[in-house]
Amino acid sequence: MGEPLQSANTSASASHGPLLRLRMALRRELAVYLDEDPLAAEVRAQHVRTMMEMSPWAMLATAANAVLLYAAARPQGAGLVLHLWLASMLVLAGWGLRSGWRARGRQWTRSSVRTVWRFTAHGAVLGGLWGLFGVLWFPAAQPSSQLLMGLVLTGSACAGAYLMASLPTAAYAYVSMLLGGGALAWLLTPGMPLFAMPLVAVYLAVLVQVVRSTAHNATARLLSEREVRRQNQLVALLLRDFEEHTSDLLWELDREGRLVNVSPRLAVVLGVPPQALGRARFVDWLRQHEPRLDAADTGATEQAPGAAAALAAALALDKPFRDLELGVALPAGPRWWHLTAKPLLSEDNRTIGWRGVLSDVTSQHQARRRLDQLAHYDALTGLANRVRLRERLALLLAQPLPPGQMAALLCVDVDNFKTINDSMGHSVGDAVLQEVAARIRQQMRRSDLVARLGGDEFAIVLDGLATEAEAWALAQRLLVAMQAPCSVGPQAVAVGLSIGMALLPQHGQTLDEAMGNADLALYAAKQGGRGRCELFVPQLGERSRRRLVVEQELRRALAAGDLALHWQPQVDIGSWQPCGAEALLRWSHPALGMVPPNEFVLVAEECGLIGTLGAWVMQRACMEAARSLPAHITASVNVSPAQLVHPGFVAMVQQALAHSGLPAQRLVVEVTESLFMDAAPVALANLRGLKDLGVRIALDDFGTGYSSLAYLRRFPFDSLKIDRAFVRELTDRSDARAIVRTIVQLARNLGMRTIAEGVETPAQLLVLRNAGCLAMQGYLAARPMPVAEVAGLLGRWQAVARPQNHQALPDTALAPL
Ligand code: C2E
Ligand code: CA
Ligand code: CA
Repeated sequence: MGEPLQSANTSASASHGPLLRLRMALRRELAVYLDEDPLAAEVRAQHVRTMMEMSPWAMLATAANAVLLYAAARPQGAGLVLHLWLASMLVLAGWGLRSGWRARGRQWTRSSVRTVWRFTAHGAVLGGLWGLFGVLWFPAAQPSSQLLMGLVLTGSACAGAYLMASLPTAAYAYVSMLLGGGALAWLLTPGMPLFAMPLVAVYLAVLVQVVRSTAHNATARLLSEREVRRQNQLVALLLRDFEEHTSDLLWELDREGRLVNVSPRLAVVLGVPPQALGRARFVDWLRQHEPRLDAADTGATEQAPGAAAALAAALALDKPFRDLELGVALPAGPRWWHLTAKPLLSEDNRTIGWRGVLSDVTSQHQARRRLDQLAHYDALTGLANRVRLRERLALLLAQPLPPGQMAALLCVDVDNFKTINDSMGHSVGDAVLQEVAARIRQQMRRSDLVARLGGDEFAIVLDGLATEAEAWALAQRLLVAMQAPCSVGPQAVAVGLSIGMALLPQHGQTLDEAMGNADLALYAAKQGGRGRCELFVPQLGERSRRRLVVEQELRRALAAGDLALHWQPQVDIGSWQPCGAEALLRWSHPALGMVPPNEFVLVAEECGLIGTLGAWVMQRACMEAARSLPAHITASVNVSPAQLVHPGFVAMVQQALAHSGLPAQRLVVEVTESLFMDAAPVALANLRGLKDLGVRIALDDFGTGYSSLAYLRRFPFDSLKIDRAFVRELTDRSDARAIVRTIVQLARNLGMRTIAEGVETPAQLLVLRNAGCLAMQGYLAARPMPVAEVAGLLGRWQAVARPQNHQALPDTALAPL
């Protein structure tokens, strides 16, 4: 029978007669004793056990009562029947005692319906024997014995019914047999009042009712106990599964906020034995285990609040919370947890603790961080990348800055990095970038964001500045920090930076505007001679458009032959005789007018045109010099570092010489110090190759940019050109005079000639002569001019007046150096 216990079969009851209905009601009531299904068998076993536990005492009592009744019946004559009766009672009691004894301590899990019937039969026989005694010996007994017999039989009926109540069928059988016998004995006894008969029926009814309700309650109790047990088992199973198979743990706080019921696994995760937590509140414990800020996160504004503060805030709300992420620093290393919890409420709805789940999400957190790292940081330098820079800038521009505060965006470019990379290899290039990144980071404040945008481009966001001067000071610090060469293994690589600066928000309301303007400023810095910082000004926007035009037009001009060379004579200071001439590029554009070489040479370097342009200059200069200039006049040709790193450079020069017929000794190649910055072995090899041809090498613009006297020892230059910037200050500043004198002496010691550039006044010339400088070049002698004109000038040189050095000199110029 598969239907659930105690369920009514209502559809059947309506259509059948009262007897059938009674049977079915009984069947239903006794279902737990008569059904074959496992649940019934289980409950039955419990009832049987209860019976068994009682039965030894009941059987002893039965035996004692039987002996008592035997004694009471003896005076009527101790016949065989009485002996047999007593023997039967004792056997029955003995049998019950024995099976009770045997069942002792046994675990009953199931009992069959047969067992119930066996007990019922036992009950019926026992009740029947009591009843039989009443019928046989009560009617003829003395009144005093009758009293005893009545007492014992009634007591046995009541006690037996009660003791057998857990198996109602047995109890019913027992009681009805006993009371049936009792009633018959009453009827057989002469002089007994008949009206007592209904009383027996009442007893029976009361006893049946007692048994019913006792049995019913016992079954209900057993069922509910069983359900509780089942649920406990299930919960335990689930908890065990939960604890063993997930990284989740249960945690619980008491009213005071202290961890309680710390499981061994939780203790392992916390890294301390439960007792070591002492009386400390969990929040305080977390506070003592707060992780330190990660160095890689420097500049991060979205740093999460401390774990303790986060948990305290969540608890203060008195509401359930989910997946609160906390970072903790444990002795074994940093861990990340997710906490989920619900408040435990008292009857009157006050929070008396918390219970929840703790998940160790360290590996997910680390994976997420790695992804985040990949997405937001540059793998080579560990700096932030473009994405992160844009995020930070967007955040900065999204809201107005606090009054009196400004920010700045710096675009930083490594000067001539391409040359380093091409000539020394990518691993050196990478090492240089790493070193540059480290130096930049060193100079910046904690709150500044340093990013690598790719290649040799970096960007820096300076936050919370009070004045523009602060931004300048930081930029200056960067430039100074870059002065020492980077050491890459055994090599020292000189590196310079150019910086473009845009102030925020005035130089950019939007991200792209800010980046674009800082970029323009960077371009201006490069154009202005590199190794410097330039601030954005609105005119730069114009310049960038012009740069595009210049690039386009330069390609066209090269092809169309719109370029020309002008020559500027170089004069020996002592004899005032011309000794050479420098070829300077000129480009006259129909719409743009004269485009200065400073401007378009830089464009050519950047857009890769310099090779073609430089080759054209070399060929043209050699040709013009060979054809038009006197044989004692050297021809100086400017060469960009970008040309020198090209392996075919020497061959190109050789070809130009051969093609023009200019002797190599008449050619002077002018290079700048930035050559050393690039530290390109190819460039130095090319210079040596030129020297081997007999070509002379001059170091141009000496004293500017990355000036270092140490460079002079690295290559045997033939001459050194003192930059116009020094010459210009010669008459006003004594330190400029000291510098020039030192340079001249040093050059002389190293066997180099010195040529001063940009000499415009006789006073400058005088100082230079006193300092020992050998040659000069400048408007004082002649401006650059086309080859035909310079040839003419050189032809009539003797007629040109020598500047009157000693006239109109300011006193300072004559002051001792
Ligand atoms: P640089 O090699 O230092 O050339 C000297 C510059 O000083 C020339 O400017 C010349 O016109 C100018 N100058 C000469 N004497 C005086 C003077 O007394 N006062 C003043 N104020 N300036 C004087 P320019 O021709 O504008 O050339 C500028 C720069 O462009 C050159 O500087 C050189 O670096 C570059 N350049 C010119 N031609 C070429 C070329 O063919 N190839 C390469 N790679 N660069 C070139
Ligand atoms: Ca030059
Ligand atoms: Ca120069």
